[in-house]
Amino acid sequence: VLSHYRNLEIENKILLVLDLDETLIHATERKLEIDFDFQYADYFIYRRPNLKWFLESMSADFKLAVWSSADDKYVEEIVEKIKPENIEFEFVWGRTRCTTKRDYELDEYVHEKRLKKVKKKGFSIERILMIDDSPEKTKDNYGNAVYVSAFEGDQNDSELKTLAEYLSSIKDSHNVRSFEKRGWKNKKTA
Ligand SMILES: [Mg+2]
Repeated sequence: VLSHYRNLEIENKILLVLDLDETLIHATERKLEIDFDFQYADYFIYRRPNLKWFLESMSADFKLAVWSSADDKYVEEIVEKIKPENIEFEFVWGRTRCTTKRDYELDEYVHEKRLKKVKKKGFSIERILMIDDSPEKTKDNYGNAVYVSAFEGDQNDSELKTLAEYLSSIKDSHNVRSFEKRGWKNKKTA
């Protein structure tokens, strides 16, 4: 019986919904002084340090998905480039899956990622973590969010290493919404 539950638990890995721009990569029309990794249209793309390692090691303990508020085609093509061969994402979503809303404080339109759309795919809300550098895009589900610093090309950036350590410490949580995730860099435990 125990092993049966254990298998269920493994099947029921927490889903990481990863943002793309400034979380996993940096895309810019203005070339940086360091070598870019690849190009897409007019953009020079820089992978965040440790990206491949991060995706590979997280895939052992989590289900993975990408959700960006950028153009769908851009998202698909960038993900195709950065995806390690042995990894499958549960879904890769772009702007058409976002909910566009006027933010009066910021005085602009914000493309929000609302988890009820993920829930409709059969994922349990208690078992989803959104990794994002933009709180305004995840505010509908801030209890599910882990905010990372924005990556803009710094080759000494170690955010994905620190993040992996934190995520590993909470991978067995039954309800990710039940504990505070702000200040995660200093805590590293659930
Ligand atoms: Mg972002």
